[in-house]
Amino acid sequence: MKNLKVWIIAGIGAGSSLLIFMMIIIMIIFNVNLNSSCDDSESAANNPTSATGASGSWEKKGSEAYNTAKEVFDFWVKKGMSGAGAAGIVGNIGGAENTGFVLDQKEIGGGSGGGLYQFTPYTKYLNDPKSDKSWSAQNQSEVVISLEPGTVKSYLSRTKTSSPGDAATNWMNMYERPSEKAKESTNGARRSAAEKFYEMFGGASITANESILGGTVDGANAGEQAQSDEESVNCGDDSTSVPGSWIWPFKSVPKSGPSLDTAQKFGNDGGFRTNSFHDGVDFGDATYNGDIHAVHGGKISKIVKPGEYGVSFYLVWETTDDGYGIAYQEFGNMDDIFVKEGDTVKTGDKIGVSRPGGQEYSHLHLGISKEKDLGKALGKSFTDDGTWLNPVDVIKKGLENSGAGD
Ligand SMILES: [Zn+2]
Repeated sequence: MKNLKVWIIAGIGAGSSLLIFMMIIIMIIFNVNLNSSCDDSESAANNPTSATGASGSWEKKGSEAYNTAKEVFDFWVKKGMSGAGAAGIVGNIGGAENTGFVLDQKEIGGGSGGGLYQFTPYTKYLNDPKSDKSWSAQNQSEVVISLEPGTVKSYLSRTKTSSPGDAATNWMNMYERPSEKAKESTNGARRSAAEKFYEMFGGASITANESILGGTVDGANAGEQAQSDEESVNCGDDSTSVPGSWIWPFKSVPKSGPSLDTAQKFGNDGGFRTNSFHDGVDFGDATYNGDIHAVHGGKISKIVKPGEYGVSFYLVWETTDDGYGIAYQEFGNMDDIFVKEGDTVKTGDKIGVSRPGGQEYSHLHLGISKEKDLGKALGKSFTDDGTWLNPVDVIKKGLENSGAGD
């Protein structure tokens, strides 16, 4: 890899390649406009394993790469993360991000990312207010929190129980967000690297520290910043908007209703939850994914974040003039939510997106309540007393009454 880098630099340095240089500049500018932290690098996909870098193999104790990996690992543990969670992040860097743990590595092979976390573009790290421009492992990690506090917080809470491999996949889906193709080809390398780090750094003996975990990302005080930083995905002119009526949350659900297994249905779930009561329906993200539409018009009264109301995920709470409270929940991060508190939505407007692997529990949970007070409604999450209604019945009836949804 070192040789490749030298050749690239030499190629540019030769001076005859002005055209190539200009193309790189254009690519950097183009990616600034994409304004994304997404990992759009195909080079990561092409070189899924990069156990060796310019600074040696991370598997070799005492090497520079090993020490940097350990520094990143220790940083996240200090933030309250479990050994599995910290290994998941380091596994992404070592297993697929192709940095070889070179601190200021530019993406090899044409991508525009850089650094341990492959910030896209490379300058994103340098331009962040939290950056001291040192490219240290510590500071780059601080900037990750600054740029994506919602994602980091959600990941932190989620890694309390996950294995290093699952944590690596979560970090890939939540933070790296590679293309589907890159996901497929790199997931295995990320997972196995995470497992190795977990072994090497004694991850099994490190449990999440709840007290640090809770406040750690709030300290970044930028809860909404990450979202506003993303390209705005607005809901204005959606053709499925039908004021006053009801609609299924996914376009792929037929008018007759979704196909659900026992545990996904409303009501008695066969023993999965307290009192065997399921207060809504689960649209599994393997079958139903993509844009989530408002099932009914109303107002976004609250976006619950992990840690609030005793939940570990993001929840969008909509209230309607005709007396319903509607919960769209188990989002893994704020980036997947397209509305904000105070927004008015019409039936069919986009609430957010359910990506395979993007939801906290691999599904959109939709709850419809007769209770508009969120606290009271959530207080009855395990009580079948009529507070929560069967969303399939409510929507079906609404579709019949309005004649919409064909
Ligand atoms: Zn559910």
